[in-house]
Amino acid sequence: MAEGPLKLCVMGGTLVDSTGVRRGDVCITGDVIVEVGADLEPPAGSTVLDASGCLVTPGLVDLHTHLRQPGAEEAETVETGSRAAALGGYTAVVAMPNTDPPVDNGAVVAEVLELSKNALVEVGVAGAITVGRAGERLSLMRELAALGVKLFTDDGNGVQDGGLMRRACEYAAGLGVTLAQHCEDERIAGYGVMNEGVWSSKLGLRGTPAAAEDTMVARDISLARLTGAKVHFMHLSCASSVELVRLAKAEGLSVTAEVTPHHMVLTDDLVRDYDPVFKVNPPLRGVDDVAAIRRGLRDGTIDAIATDHAPHSPESKQLPFDDAPPGMIGLQTALAVSYDTLLSNENHPSFSQLQEFFALFTSRPARIAGLSAQGGPLSKGSIANICVFDPDERWTVESDSQASRSRNTPFAGRSLKGRVRHCILRGEPTVVDAVALR
Ligand SMILES: [Zn+2]
Repeated sequence: MAEGPLKLCVMGGTLVDSTGVRRGDVCITGDVIVEVGADLEPPAGSTVLDASGCLVTPGLVDLHTHLRQPGAEEAETVETGSRAAALGGYTAVVAMPNTDPPVDNGAVVAEVLELSKNALVEVGVAGAITVGRAGERLSLMRELAALGVKLFTDDGNGVQDGGLMRRACEYAAGLGVTLAQHCEDERIAGYGVMNEGVWSSKLGLRGTPAAAEDTMVARDISLARLTGAKVHFMHLSCASSVELVRLAKAEGLSVTAEVTPHHMVLTDDLVRDYDPVFKVNPPLRGVDDVAAIRRGLRDGTIDAIATDHAPHSPESKQLPFDDAPPGMIGLQTALAVSYDTLLSNENHPSFSQLQEFFALFTSRPARIAGLSAQGGPLSKGSIANICVFDPDERWTVESDSQASRSRNTPFAGRSLKGRVRHCILRGEPTVVDAVALR
């Protein structure tokens, strides 16, 4: 008794993708979108998901997720991280390679892919640029690229040695892969634990200046110019970095950049109570930096919003501020925090505002990550990776009700407008009515 492929229809929503904004229904058979249009009649035997009042978009793509597996399963696993991602509207994440062991050889790539087989999102595996992320010699980039790795990064650390970074750029250009940089000159950063400024002086905490970030951005722009390599700048936090990327793009260099929701919303004064939940790397900066990040998002300098979802066990985040590890979780809150920040002041965001906003979460990161089945558009023949987002639902973030194994959200207690209602991965619902199905 063979059953036919699953039939699913998403009815009554407003579709937002790279082709435009319009009212419409989406019908799916198996893992493929088979029909898109207004007032469709769901075929017999279809499961119907209600999208009335909602925006229906391609599934979100996160360029920057720490799934922590292998090696730090007390903080997160592929299973729990991917569930948090699905609840946040994601159908794909790029897993960072700073695991234990790190992803610097084919065996670890294979292990993460195996762990991800039943995940609630597609997992793209990023590889390390250097062996052990130690910054001394290049990883087996060719072997990793042959296994499908498209993005290389030593995230957690920047590549300090400019000569080594130049060679990585030359290799990457030859292999057609992208280098993603955590921009931090460690000598300039010193042992800073927060932004260097008025607040670090007041609080007596060591600061990291913006110069620790922008000097590496400037160096890597020069290396992109020299080698033709594609360089992606991760989690930019300061005005000067955004301006450098703006100039590099005007010059036509193949550079891209991401920012996190926390850097577009939170500022360094939040550290005043020494609560380690506000410790993150790069650190929360000042109001001028937040304004510059928002300007960069509006004018296209910034290509993507990425979470830098960085789970840490409650035990480690309860250490004193100086000793606690940097990082915040963000998969379940990224879309709502960003929507609330960038669009909810607009009573009725225009079609072009909606399109630009969702491109930051869908088509642009999918292109940077090289994930061809992701990012849309919502058209006949596309793989059915879909997010259904209710822009009017209000909810309060509770750190205890996160799907992540960790609790380190800086948005606990915040009331947000906009919530993911459903999520569909390759034609299968992963989240229905804001509840994960597995
Ligand atoms: Zn980083």
